[in-house]
Amino acid sequence: MSAIHYDLGSDQILTLTIDMPGQSANTMNADFRAAMTETVGKVRNDIDNIRGIIVTSAKKTFFAGGDLKELFGVTREDAGAFEDMVNGMKAEMRALETTGKPTVAAINGSALGGGLEICLACHHRVVMDDDRIQLGLPEVTLGLLPGGGGTQRLPRMIGLEAAFPYLMEGKKVNPKAALKAGIVDELASSPDELMAKARAFIDANPKSQQPWDRKGFKFPGGAPHHPAMAQKLAIAPAMLKQKTKGCYPAPERILSAAVEGAQVDFDNGSLIETRYFTELTTGQVAKNMTGTFWFQLNAVNAGESRPAGVEKETFRKVGVLGAGMMGAGIAFSTATRGIDVVLKDVSSENAEKGKAYSEKLLAKKVSRGRMTEEQKTEVLNRIKATGSADDLEGCDLVIEAVFEDSELKAKVTREAEARLVKNGIFASNTSTIPITQLAEASSAPDNFIGLHFFSPVDKMQLVEIIVGAKTSDETLARAFDYVQQIGKIPIVVNDSRGFFTSRVFGTFVNEGIAMLGEGIHPSSIENAGVLAGMPVGPLAISDEVSMTLMQHIRDQSKKDTEAAGKTWNAHPAEAVIDQMVDSHNRKGKAAGAGFYEYPESGRKYLWPELEKLFVDQEKARSTELQELKDRILFIQAIETVRCLEEGVLRTVEDANIGSIFGIGYAPWTGGAIQFINQYGVRAFAERAKSLAERFGERFNPPAMLLDKAEANTPFS
Ligand code: NAD
Repeated sequence: MSAIHYDLGSDQILTLTIDMPGQSANTMNADFRAAMTETVGKVRNDIDNIRGIIVTSAKKTFFAGGDLKELFGVTREDAGAFEDMVNGMKAEMRALETTGKPTVAAINGSALGGGLEICLACHHRVVMDDDRIQLGLPEVTLGLLPGGGGTQRLPRMIGLEAAFPYLMEGKKVNPKAALKAGIVDELASSPDELMAKARAFIDANPKSQQPWDRKGFKFPGGAPHHPAMAQKLAIAPAMLKQKTKGCYPAPERILSAAVEGAQVDFDNGSLIETRYFTELTTGQVAKNMTGTFWFQLNAVNAGESRPAGVEKETFRKVGVLGAGMMGAGIAFSTATRGIDVVLKDVSSENAEKGKAYSEKLLAKKVSRGRMTEEQKTEVLNRIKATGSADDLEGCDLVIEAVFEDSELKAKVTREAEARLVKNGIFASNTSTIPITQLAEASSAPDNFIGLHFFSPVDKMQLVEIIVGAKTSDETLARAFDYVQQIGKIPIVVNDSRGFFTSRVFGTFVNEGIAMLGEGIHPSSIENAGVLAGMPVGPLAISDEVSMTLMQHIRDQSKKDTEAAGKTWNAHPAEAVIDQMVDSHNRKGKAAGAGFYEYPESGRKYLWPELEKLFVDQEKARSTELQELKDRILFIQAIETVRCLEEGVLRTVEDANIGSIFGIGYAPWTGGAIQFINQYGVRAFAERAKSLAERFGERFNPPAMLLDKAEANTPFS
C-alpha cells in the first residue's frame, strides 16, 4: 500500500492523502520518498485531467517531520549520498509545486518540521482552527536545520527577519498565530470546511503559482542587499554568537542558508540549504542533541527507570508541607495539572502567602491570553491553604518542603503519615539530607521516597526521584507516575549524599572557585563557564546558592565522612569560600555581596577587590581558555561516572537528561556522559589523567571509565 493515497475526483481535483502504513504518524523516510516519486510520476501522466491538487493527511497529526532514526544514522562518510538523496526528495516536492496547477495544503493536524515544509511547498494553506495544533520548524532544537526547503520558502513568504524565530529558535505557533504571521492563509472550523476552502481556492485560482516563481518577485521585508536589511544582517552573526557562544552550529548555518539562499533563485537556494543540512546532520552536535533530546528523553519518559508490573496510578489529592519557595511552586505545578492540593504551613496566613504565589503566576497566564479567568479560578479553588494538619486527611501523597532540618522533617512526617490514605506515599524535597536517614522517622519506610524538585519549580522540568534503602518498587513506580502526571521529567537515583544533581553541580561550582584560588582572573572563569555551554558562570551561581549554605553543606559532609572513619579530602575551593565569608563577609547574592557586587540599580558586576585578593597576573596571562572550559566540563562528567559506578545513577539516559535539565550541563554535549562518548572514551581518560597531574586527583578517571577506555567502548 502506498504511503500517499491518490484520489482524482470527477471534478478533476486530485487529493493526495498522506497515510504511511504501519506508522502512527507520517515521517519523511524511505517509504515516503518512494511514494512521492510514484505520486509525482502519476501526476505528470494525469496532468491534463487535473485542475488542482489538495495535500492532506489521514493521521491525527498532519505530518511529524523528518525520520530522526534515519538522520541519526547518517555519518560523514555518507555525506555525498545523503546530499543526493535530500536533493532528490526536494526535487519531487518542487515538481509538485511547479505543475502549473494550484496546490493547497489542507492541514488537519500538527505540521512540524518536514510536515510544515510540505505545506510551505503548496500555494495555499488552510488549517483547522484547533489550539492543540502546532505549526513550526523545530529542527534547530535537535541541532539540525529545516532541510526540506524551510530556510528558503519561509523567508520568501514572510521575510527574513520574521522567519528567523521560526528557523533559528524553533518557535511553534497555533493556527491563529500562524495566520497572523502569514504562515497559513485560512482557518477552517470543521474537516468539511477545510476541504471546501481548499477546493474554493483551486476554483478561484486556476493558474496559481508560488510568489517566488512569478516574474518580478520582491522579497518581503527586503532582500539581503536592501540597505535597511543589509545593515541588520551585518550584525546578525555577532548577535547570534552572543546567544550560541559558538557551541551551536545549527542557528549559524540556518542564518547562512537563509541569507545566502535569498541572494539567488529558489532552486539554487535550495541546493545551498542541502549543503548546510548535510553538514549539520553529519556533525557531532546534532548527534549529541538528537540522541539525548529525542531518543534518550523518549526512553526516560517511556518509563525506562520505572519498575515494571505496578499499575499506573492517578493522583487526586496531594498534600504539600511548607508553603515557602519550593512548597508554593510544587502546589502550583500540581494544581495546574488538575490535582487537589492541601498546602500546609505553620499558620494559615503563611499558607495563604504560598497560595498567593500561584495566583500571581496564573494572573500572568491570563494577561498573556494563555488562560481564561474561569480556568484561573478553577486552579486556585483546587488549592486549600491551611495551618492545620487535619486537612491532610485522605491525601494519596504528601510532599514535605519545610526547612532543611532533620528533626522538623521527622515531626511533620509523623504528623502527615497518620492522615494519609492506606498505602499513601510520603515524599521529602530535601536537597541534602539522605532519604534513608529521613525515613527512620517514618512508620512506613517502604512508602517513603525523595522527590527533589528544582527552583523555580514552575519552570524547571526535572524531578530527581530518590530511592531510600527501604523504599519499595511500588512506591517508586507510583512516585514516577505523579511526576509524569504533573508534566515533569522523572529521573531515578539511589540515595547518596547530594544525590546525583547536587553532587555534580557542586563539582562545577567548586572547580570555578578553585580557579580563583589559583590566581586566574574571575572574568576569565565566568567566561569559560558560559563558553563551555553552562547557563551561567560558576562564581555567579555560587552567589545565587550562597556561600554560607555551601559552608554548611561541606561541614555536614565532613562530619559524616569522618564519623564513618574516612578521611576528608579538602577541596581547594574551601579556603576561598572561607576567606570570602569569614574575612570579607561576602556571603552571596541574598546577602547583597559575594563574588559580585549587587548595586541597587543597574547590573551586578564582579567585585573589583577579587583582583587584588586572588589574581596572579602571570597565571592570568598564561592560562588557556580551552583548559578552563575542559576543567569545567570534565570535572562534572567524571563525577557523573562516579555516580554510575556507585550505583547512584541507574542509567546513562538518566545521567544525560538529569545533567542537562537539572543543572544545565552544556546542552550541546548531549549530557555529561554523552560528552565523554563524543570526546572518545580513550581520549577523555587520557585528558582526565593529564588534568589530574596538574590540578589534583579529583580528575583521576574512575575505574569504570578506565575499563571503558581499555575496551574502547562508549557508555550505553
Ligand atoms: P523556605 O524557607 O522558603 O520554606 C520553608 C517553609 O516551611 C516556610 O514557609 C515555613 O514556614 C514552613 N514550615 C516550617 N515548619 C513547618 C511545619 N511544621 N509545617 C509546615 N510548614 C512548616 O524553604 P525552601 O527554599 O522552600 O526549601 C524547602 C525544602 O526544599 C528544604 O528542605 C530545601 O532543602 C529543599 N529544596 C530547596 C531548593 C531551593 O532551591 N530552595 C531546591 C530543592 C530542594
